[in-house]
Amino acid sequence: MFEQPLSTLAALIADRKLSSRELTQSYLDRIAALNPALNAFITVDAEKSLQEASAADARIAAGDMTPLTGVPIAHKDIFCTDGWRTTCGSHMLHNFVAPYDAHVIRQFKAAGMPSLGKTNMDEFAMGSSNETSYFGAVKNPWNHDYVPGGSSGGAAACVAARMAPAATGTDTGGSIRQPASLCGITGLKPTYGLVSRYGMIAFASSLDQAGPMAKSAEDCALLLNVMTGFDAKDSTSLEREKEDYSRDLVKPLTGLRVGLPREFFADGLNAEIGASVMAAVDELKKLGATVVEVELPNAKLAIPVYYVLAPAEASSNLSRFDGVRYGYRAPEYSDLNDMYCKTRAQGFGAEVKRRILIGAYVLSAGYYDAYYLQAQKIRRLIANDFTEAFKTCDVIAGPTAPNTAFKLGAKTDDPVEMYLNDLYTIPANLAGLPGMSLPCGFDQAGLPIGLQLVGDYFSEAKMLNVAHQYQRATDWHARKPEGV
Ligand code: GLN
Repeated sequence: MFEQPLSTLAALIADRKLSSRELTQSYLDRIAALNPALNAFITVDAEKSLQEASAADARIAAGDMTPLTGVPIAHKDIFCTDGWRTTCGSHMLHNFVAPYDAHVIRQFKAAGMPSLGKTNMDEFAMGSSNETSYFGAVKNPWNHDYVPGGSSGGAAACVAARMAPAATGTDTGGSIRQPASLCGITGLKPTYGLVSRYGMIAFASSLDQAGPMAKSAEDCALLLNVMTGFDAKDSTSLEREKEDYSRDLVKPLTGLRVGLPREFFADGLNAEIGASVMAAVDELKKLGATVVEVELPNAKLAIPVYYVLAPAEASSNLSRFDGVRYGYRAPEYSDLNDMYCKTRAQGFGAEVKRRILIGAYVLSAGYYDAYYLQAQKIRRLIANDFTEAFKTCDVIAGPTAPNTAFKLGAKTDDPVEMYLNDLYTIPANLAGLPGMSLPCGFDQAGLPIGLQLVGDYFSEAKMLNVAHQYQRATDWHARKPEGV
């Protein structure tokens, strides 16, 4: 049952061969058994999950259902959830219960999908290894000595360990794709603006985007159908007609032009990853695709650009955590200023403080032009490179991450080394383009390798088509960690 696609689970429930309550209970049992070792969930509330499952069963009995009614899902702890604690992986919000649901949560509730709980994440989504979480690191289900990637590390680990059939994630610089890659699952970051950010705790608002994480592209398509849609409460939400992202899954790939960016296959690329990605490209060729070389000459500037822009936006977004309105407040202080200072000193972890300081610095009067403005200009050049590239190809393929999962603690003392994990994922965020990661092999240590696809704006259906055809021809996505 835990290996079934979402459509099969939904059909079993719709046909009353399985109740949502039974299915939800079996996942809760797996969470109870595996979470103590993996730490993928911050909050689990079996009673609430089962109540939501019973409500789904009642809807089915009344004939009021959607394609995924009754199928449970785990939510990244960055989404505000009415009645459930929402911590964003931070001490600052360790006791925060939102009075409302994020748009994404509302969409899944409207679809009748019970929540299995809130998944662990890097503090305020800042990190690539899930080690900055106030609630402790998540372990990679493929090897518990290794990180699951981040910041949606709990989401990726819970899907890989079959503690949930699907999960939500968010991706500001790679946080859906990189953990998907390191945990051997499929994850998609949509075009910026397709999924409402209302109620999703803001990190860098011009980059943040929520998306699905699941075992396969087919499952991601169904989840994306639930998540997308215009929302007047998010000023960057796009007013577009609703699409069916499953519509093109079965199309043949004949004539598909796959672009390989020269820069992504340059010297520094790990040989095992390069070989697996090229084998995946060969598979796409067998399925009818042709390959063209493309250039992304400014992509190499993505990391420095991102680490100016994302901290700048974060320093502004995180100013709201002042001990007055949300979550944590220092227990002792002498006056208002001292309360702000102590609350923020005690409530934020080291990485978050580093970003706030960098952000305040690059936005300060003397440096704004030299750093922030300059970074915005290069951001445009990076986006223009993609526009050029998509004149000659339909989808860009390459590695998701420059490495497979690394050992817990291996990069915690070197922030820049950690930042480099997002070398290949950040360009798509800066350009606002959709990107996805899907499993395409394993390294010698048995750790998963991810293939990244980046598409033009609004080409999610095409990317999912490519990924689904690849997954029909291969079985990397169906492999699971030993003992799971
Ligand atoms: N790892 C990147 C960072 O630390 C990206 C995080 C994300 O996408 N949320 O900022």
